[in-house]
Amino acid sequence: MAYDYDNDNIFAKILRGEIPNRTVLDTGHALAFEDISPRAPVHVLVIPKGPYVCFDHFQSAATNEEIVGFFETVRGVCEKLNLSPGEGGKGYRMIANTGRDGVQEVPHFHVHILAGRPIGPMVMAV
Ligand code: AMP
Repeated sequence: MAYDYDNDNIFAKILRGEIPNRTVLDTGHALAFEDISPRAPVHVLVIPKGPYVCFDHFQSAATNEEIVGFFETVRGVCEKLNLSPGEGGKGYRMIANTGRDGVQEVPHFHVHILAGRPIGPMVMAV
């Protein structure tokens, strides 16, 4: 399966430093920053530094080191913001919108971390 990565997508520009961001955590393999249009008191995006379009692309093409590094960064954000239920935090929702039906707007793999209040139903009923 081939994926066409768009080097001009907004997250690629953030990674190149062409667009500012409010960084929460910057590690070797991933960058976490505040969503520009927050849907919850805590709304952080975590993106790998490599050019991956979506989760499937990332999982199939990234190295194990990149994949572990990415999820360690997600975990680091939860730790930094005190969200982890096992450590007294109130929890969070992690979302990866993927492709057309997933309504993914930015074609660079990312997860949303939403927290700071009960996030509500998983999806709207049809
Ligand atoms: P998605 O629909 O999963 O692709 O989500 C893309 C997210 O990127 C949205 O929640 C936007 O608010 C967010 N976003 C777009 N541009 C920026 C930006 N320059 N800085 C931070 N977040 C952004």
